[in-house]
Amino acid sequence: MTATAANHDTAREAAELLRWVPSGALIGGTWLEPTAGRAIDVLDPATEERIVSVPDGTVEDALGAVDAASEALAQWRRTSPRHRSEVLRRAFELMTERAEDLARLMTLENGKALPDARAEAAYAAEFFRWYAEEAVRNVGELMTAPSGANRILVTRQPIGVALLITPWNFPAAMLTRKIGPALAAGCTVVCKPASETPLTALAVGRVLEEAGVPPGVVNIVPSRRSGEVARALLADDRVRKLSFTGSTEVGRTLLAAAAETVVSCSMELGGNAPFVVFADADLEAAVDGAMVAKMRNGGEACTAANRFYVEAPVADRFAELLAARMGSLRMGRGLDDGVQLGPLVNASSRDKVRELVDDARADGAEAVVGGDDPGGTGFFYPATVLAGVPPAAALLRTEIFGPVAPIVSFADESEAVALANDTEYGLASYVYTGDLARGLRVAEAIETGMVGLNRGLVSDPAAPFGGVKQSGLGREGGHDGMLEYLEQKYIACTW
Ligand code: NAP
Repeated sequence: MTATAANHDTAREAAELLRWVPSGALIGGTWLEPTAGRAIDVLDPATEERIVSVPDGTVEDALGAVDAASEALAQWRRTSPRHRSEVLRRAFELMTERAEDLARLMTLENGKALPDARAEAAYAAEFFRWYAEEAVRNVGELMTAPSGANRILVTRQPIGVALLITPWNFPAAMLTRKIGPALAAGCTVVCKPASETPLTALAVGRVLEEAGVPPGVVNIVPSRRSGEVARALLADDRVRKLSFTGSTEVGRTLLAAAAETVVSCSMELGGNAPFVVFADADLEAAVDGAMVAKMRNGGEACTAANRFYVEAPVADRFAELLAARMGSLRMGRGLDDGVQLGPLVNASSRDKVRELVDDARADGAEAVVGGDDPGGTGFFYPATVLAGVPPAAALLRTEIFGPVAPIVSFADESEAVALANDTEYGLASYVYTGDLARGLRVAEAIETGMVGLNRGLVSDPAAPFGGVKQSGLGREGGHDGMLEYLEQKYIACTW
């Protein structure tokens, strides 16, 4: 498989897509342009060319955003739930109208194939629609105390200014999954998008502005000084919430920093999803599911199937079928027609994938398809299936974050569950079986926050998304997503 990048003109494509997207930081309703020497160059991962530069926000810029968010909070938290709902609904509609532009912009800066970017644009907009619907459902509780002496009244109030830090792999959806519930709850936000993909975040900012979000309610500060900015904001008493999506490693350091000021934390961290196939499964359906669980977003997903455990009698057949599908994918620049697999986001991601595969092969794994770095321009790595992977291989313990499917066979149900749980991560898992009772039994035994049972996709704006173990704290999406931005207040009443 070779990578192809048809004739293109990055500057022209970028200019067209950026006609309505500002390239500045959004602070207090003002778009600040990059100044010389303080800019982040955004690259096209397929060509390694610069698309545009955005400001590299300083700690002072980020604190300015907290000033704006803090000032806007007093008004915003008092707006009616119906008003906030309607603003979010307009944001959903505007985002849906501009979905194609947004998808192309994501492909340009992230590299993902256009079908993946289109799916993300729709998924991201859905969080605005869902939280437009949830904004008017902030219910409390009232009960008589067991003694009968008083009433217990519980209300839920917005927590305050929230710091939202997002990754590059789903640059739109990870942001709307936080902004939607935060705004619905009545919070104001300071967003720090990933430095690889700030343009998508700025586009979302523009959409929200046009939807009627007042100045200061949503602030967006791209910055390469992530650690410094996060520490300064977490030390500021006005910031009462941190919602982070990213690696477990960075999540741990943020939790430690947040402990100093006892800031409420929601953490969506890394994964190492097992994909378990029993011999009684519909093998064609399992391969369809595997293609989604592994190849959605080119493998750069926290929910991506990272380890395939297949019952011994069907392991070779599964590897053959999966390799045929993986090998037929067209790799190339994500914006080009017919491309199904784009480049990885940057050189270090590509190098990490290559090293993991090379090490596994050196230890005896066999590449059924792929497995070789194509070289050349762009951060491409081919769809790869590895069979006979030794249990100690590093890629079974590491989040691969690329288009590589390692296959290991197992003997029985208890071994499958033990292998699946042999990790510090616990985000998503997948189980394929024709026996529903077994499917539910294994789904209960696997230590993950989400399970796909005969299904390769778990993400849904209406469902509680999140992990157990070192994959995170809290849930995003669904009804629970808004609770992360609300605090309970208990009022003991006598009347
Ligand atoms: P990352 O390196 O942890 O970065 C995520 C965000 O944190 C970026 O905005 C990054 O900014 C910022 N950051 C980096 N170091 C920081 C620090 N010391 N303090 C504060 N912020 C810091 O993760 P990534 O490589 O972008 O994303 C991939 C990871 O995200 C994977 O582990 C994946 O599993 C996880 N993820 C999880 C979910 C989920 O819902 N559980 C969803 C998607 C992705 P810069 O870009 O400026 O460095």
